[in-house]
Order: sequence, then structure tokens, then C-alpha cells
Amino acid sequence: MHLFYPHVCTGCGSDLLQTDNLLCLKCIHDLPHTNFADLANNPVEKYFWGRIKLSAAYSQFYFAKEFLMQHLIHQLKYKGDIEIGFYLGEMMGKTMLRSNRFSTIDALIPLPLYADKEHKRGYNQATVICNGISSVMNIPVLNGAVIRRHATETQTRKHRTERWENVKDSFKVAKPGDLSGKHLLLVDDVVTTGATLEACGNIILEVEHVNLSIATLAYAAK
Ligand SMILES: [Zn+2]
Repeated sequence: MHLFYPHVCTGCGSDLLQTDNLLCLKCIHDLPHTNFADLANNPVEKYFWGRIKLSAAYSQFYFAKEFLMQHLIHQLKYKGDIEIGFYLGEMMGKTMLRSNRFSTIDALIPLPLYADKEHKRGYNQATVICNGISSVMNIPVLNGAVIRRHATETQTRKHRTERWENVKDSFKVAKPGDLSGKHLLLVDDVVTTGATLEACGNIILEVEHVNLSIATLAYAAK
């Protein structure tokens, strides 16, 4: 079988002996965990202070520290490797199950992509991560509850504040009834400036009686 289906580590390309693993033991050991999940006021939460009201936030891995995580996320986003996204999502689910700060979450919301971008890629990488989390935590993924639309006017001509309004306006809650009264976890692959998560999250928080937390696979902010 090995000849027809060569089974190699997604991280480093070395041969794998156990075909049910995606990563070799060295790569699993090298994964740059942040250990932020149990940590109140962790750097990801501080990043959103004054911008959006969150119950909790964390990222599972550092993005820039090692080549490994950049490579894995590249495989997920641009190489169609859904398996690795699901696998890393499962790791997030296990982490959050162990943490009492994420125990009251009712449902997962993948940060939506623009429809044409998702169509071109064939999937939303945030949804893939959510599916992995969901399989471990046994909570539903609310696909399509929040949608993303292109702004009608070109953003390049606009002032910074107007551009911000445009980002904010590009998200819309399609099914408020699905969100009302729940503790929701907004999920994305990497947090960089946080502007997109902030915009989407603030739209979600306009729904009545919603608590919001954020989790991302990786953390690239300073
Ligand atoms: Zn490896």
C-alpha cells in the first residue's frame, strides 16, 4: 500500500510508520503551543481590549516562532489539505475541553469568507478547523449564520474610518434566532491585526443576549 499511497508527515515530509498519523513524533513535539487557553488576560485577549467585549480568547499556536506552523497553515489554506486543519482543530477542542474558561460555549461560528473566495478555494479553512473542534467538544458549527459580502464601493479611495465602516458592514447576521441567548465561539485560522475578527464579532454581539469568545489556530500579532 505504501507504494500507491505514500504516507509522509505533513510537517516535514519524513516517512510515517503509523498510517493513522498526519504528523511524525518530532513535528508533534515541535508544535509551538501558546498555553494561552487557561490564562486570563493572555496576549490575545489583551489585543482585543477596548475593541470588542469578549468572555475569553486564545490561540492554540504561535505562528511566527517556527516554520512548522506556517507550513501547516499554508497546506490548509492553499494546498487543499483539509485533513491537517481538522486534526489541528481537534487539538484545539481537546485544549478547550480541559479549560474551564471555554466550558459554556454553545456553538461555533467560522469567520466567513467572501462567497467567491470560498467557491474558488472549495472550502472555508475556518469551517474545517471548526469541524475538528466540534468533533471533540460535541457542539454544533453554525454555518451560514453570519455571512460576508463585498462592499459596493472600492475601499482604496476611502479614508481609514470609512474603510473601517466598510469592513464592519461587510458582515451580516443572517439567522439572529440561531445565535440569540448563546455563548458563541468565533473561530479563524490566524489572528494578525484582529480587525476582521473584531468587525465580525461586533456584528454578532448586536444579537440579543449573546456572549462571545474567540479562538484561532495561530497567533501572529506582536
Ligand atoms: Zn514531521
